[in-house]
Order: sequence, then C-alpha cells, then structure tokens
Amino acid sequence: MSVRQPMPVQPADERAHNFKEVALGYTQEQAVAEAERCIECKKPQCVKGCPVNIDIPAFIKSMKTSDFDGAIDKIKETNSLPAVCGRVCPQETQCEMYCILGKKEGPVAIGRLERFCADYERGKGVKAPHRATSTGKHIAVVGSGPAGLAAASDLAKAGHEVTMFEALHSAGGVLIYGIPEFRLPKDIVAEEVDYIVQLGVELKSGYVIGKIKTIDEMKNEFDAIFLGTGAGLPNFMGIDGENLNGVYSANEFLTRVNLMKAYHFPQYDTPIKKGKNVIVVGGGNVAMDAARCALRLGADEVSIVYRRSDEELPARREEIDHAKEEGIVFRLLTNPVKILGDENLMVTGAECVKMELGEPDESGRRRPRVIEGSEHVVDADIVIMAIGTSPNPLVFEGAAGLNKSKWGTIIVDEAGMTSIDGVCAGGDVVTGAATVISAMGAGKLAAHTINEYLL
Ligand SMILES: Cc1cc2nc3c(=O)[nH]c(=O)nc-3n(C[C@H](O)[C@H](O)[C@H](O)COP(=O)(O)OP(=O)(O)OC[C@H]3O[C@@H](n4cnc5c(N)ncnc54)[C@H](O)[C@@H]3O)c2cc1C
Repeated sequence: MSVRQPMPVQPADERAHNFKEVALGYTQEQAVAEAERCIECKKPQCVKGCPVNIDIPAFIKSMKTSDFDGAIDKIKETNSLPAVCGRVCPQETQCEMYCILGKKEGPVAIGRLERFCADYERGKGVKAPHRATSTGKHIAVVGSGPAGLAAASDLAKAGHEVTMFEALHSAGGVLIYGIPEFRLPKDIVAEEVDYIVQLGVELKSGYVIGKIKTIDEMKNEFDAIFLGTGAGLPNFMGIDGENLNGVYSANEFLTRVNLMKAYHFPQYDTPIKKGKNVIVVGGGNVAMDAARCALRLGADEVSIVYRRSDEELPARREEIDHAKEEGIVFRLLTNPVKILGDENLMVTGAECVKMELGEPDESGRRRPRVIEGSEHVVDADIVIMAIGTSPNPLVFEGAAGLNKSKWGTIIVDEAGMTSIDGVCAGGDVVTGAATVISAMGAGKLAAHTINEYLL
C-alpha cells in the first residue's frame, strides 16, 4: 500500500501570528514519490472531475521521470493558472474524488502535484508565452477573476485582440482581494495574471463597466463580449444592529486585509479595526478566511458562529481543520438574532440562539430550527458577516435585453451565451458564489463559444 505524501505546513502556533503561506509545498523527492503512486489506469477517471480538462495522467507520468518541464507544459495546455489552482481548488470534490486509489489508501494528491510543477517553473522563471497571429477581432472581457482570466487567455491564444476591464486597481478578482495571503500569496496571483497579459491581453484596471462605459456602448466597439463580474455584493441577515460600528461584511474585511494590506497600516493607507473578541457568522471558505485573518491581526478570541453542525460546514475540510488547529472557536448550532451595541454605537456582542436540526430542506441539508429559551449573549467588539454574496448589478446598467434570474444572476444557454447576441457570461455572476475552477471552466467554454460565433 502506498501512502499519500503529507503536505508540509507551518506549525499552527507560529502561523496563527503571521500571514505567510500555511502549506509549504512538496520537495522534489516527495513530488516524485507521490507521482509514482499513480497506477496509470487504462480508463482514467480523474480528468472527468477537472472543469478545465487538464491531461492529469500525462502530466503525472512526466513527473515520474522528473520531467517537470514536460509536466508543466502539459498542464498549461489547458490551464493558465496552475499555481492558483494547485493551492485553492477543492480537489477532494473534483479530480481526486474520481481517483481509483481513493477507495483504499487515499487518492493521488493531484492538486499538490500541480502546485509543485507550477512552483518549479516559477523558480526557474516562467517562459514567455507564444503570441498567436492576430485574427483582427476585438473582444472585451469584463472582470479579471478566474472566469475572465481563463476566457481572456483562451481568446488571446486563438489570436483575438482582447481587452480586459477590471473595476479594482489590481487584476485577479477574489484571488487578489478575497483569498488571504496565507492560502494564496498575492505575488503568485500577480505572476499568473502577468502570464496572461503576456499572451497579448490588454488590462484596463480601475474601469467600472456600467459606469465608465456600458455593454450597449461596447457592442459597437467589440466583436464579442464576455461578462465575468463575479458575485461580490455581500448579503446581510437583516437583523437589528447590523449597522453598528464594528460590523463588517467578510468582503470588506478581507479586501481591507488582503488587497489593501491593512495589516501593514500605517505603512499602507487602509486601516482595519483589530478586535479583541471577533465573531464570524457563516461556515464556508469565506468565513474560515475571515476568522483566520482576524486571528492573525491579533484578536484574543475568534469564533465561527454557524447555525448547523460540524458535518454541514460548507468550507473545505482542510481549511476547517487548519482553523481549528490555529485556535478558532466553533460555536455550532448557534445563530445570531441581534447585534448589540453601546451608547456610542460600537458593537459589544451578539444575542444568539441555539439551534437543532430538523428535516432535510430542498438542498438535502437538515433544516435548522431554534431551541426555545436558548437566548444567550456572546461578547464581541467585531462581527463579520460571511453568509454569502450576490452579483453586483452595476454591470447591468446600460445592458438592454440582458436576462437575469430572480437572484440577480445572468441567465446563459448551455454554451454560455446570454440573451444579448455576441455577449457571453460565466463564473459566479451566472452560478452565484462557487469555485475558482468552475469559474475558469465557464470562462473557457465562453471563449470556445465566442470563437464559433466569430466564425
Ligand atoms: C474569501 C473567499 C475564499 C474563497 N476560497 C475559495 C477556495 O478556497 N477555493 C475555490 O475554488 N473557491 C474559493 N472561493 C470562491 C472563488 O474565489 C470564486 O468562485 C471565483 O473567484 C469566481 O470567479 P469569477 O471570475 O466568477 O469572479 P470574481 O473572482 O469575483 O471576479 C470578478 C471580477 O470582476 C470585477 N468586476 C465586478 N463588476 C465589475 C464591473 N462592473 N466592471 C469591471 N469589473 C467588474 C470584480 O472587481 C472582480 O475582480 C472563495 C471566495 C471567497 C470570497
């Protein structure tokens, strides 16, 4: 039996006080040993779990002979963000879920191997990509998150003149403003964005589509348009006290910390309130990231408040385990009903109730219900709401005829085309908050559809 190589990590008590990367990556020896676990199935199933269709068996085969250049070339045939995906993709529910070894000794660590190859190439200096001959067609990509980057990359490789519009001052979407440095270092995102720019993509940052220019106006300038504007508008619970000083949306909190480097204030301009007792409401990756950032900023106690049980926590198990090891407190089967404040309108705590799980709801998860008489107060000077996001409607201004769902997501057909001819969309703006790799898959599908449309 061949055992899966463990990922070396920073010790929990050290990493809880710094923003350096938690997972340290495989050594060359570990990477080859892990690659050798692949039994080279006649009918490999892993690829069917990869939304960007990486030829996983081929890249792992190259790794077995230490041909890491061959391996990264193979990965990059379909994925321009391997260092990102190798770090944050939920492989356990994608490629690795289909690995035959998963039934016995644990699947081949495909994500960790992808990360190794990408880091190996970065260590040597990434080769400048080949620029395709121009087709003379002009395409606009709106949003520079994983969906926009994947679409821009494939469209540029097909020879089109691609302009990518980004509202923020830096490209990368959630990769740059949401996912923290200790899970995904920002210089790595910047390098992978730069690779896509080198393919010939023109990046226009600080450019809000719907305000500076509208889709209707852009239709006259561009042969086709891709909308990958994500779901960056935070949801709130609608309970009393959410407007008190000290209540953040996870988006604002994480943007201040990650994009604006508030943990280096005043060296960087943006301040952040460092709490003593921090409550994070929610149980997904966003909640884990916000809690772990608050801890690293120096809080005495950070707790996750989640209305279901440990089993239903939607975050990746690895992130939950890391958060627990670092000392995050989990107040499960608990829900806030009111945020409490003092006479200066500063947060002092949250009134919470205990919950129990009833019958499954439409999503199959057991529905939480309040236990009568379980009201109690949790002290806090900061409350962070991480209960989901919706698409920001700004991009819809001046987009006549764009069909949207009742949740404010864009409706597309199976090829990624919207109700406006020549305008495709994909990623979180279509699905609601999902994953990096599903957004990339949608960007690639849209690029393919745009190619066919232009022909
Ligand atoms: C904190 C956090 C942690 C996460 N962790 C993980 C994880 O570990 N693994 C995982 O797979 N997924 C994770 N996700 C989810 C994943 O990041 C998203 O599903 C993914 O980034 C969606 O990609 P996208 O390109 O559709 O949108 P986004 O990444 O949101 O990018 C959209 C971009 O469009 C820009 N934009 C918006 N409106 C306009 C406009 N009008 N004009 C111009 N530009 C505009 C935005 O500024 C943004 O840069 C996480 C999400 C968050 C918030």
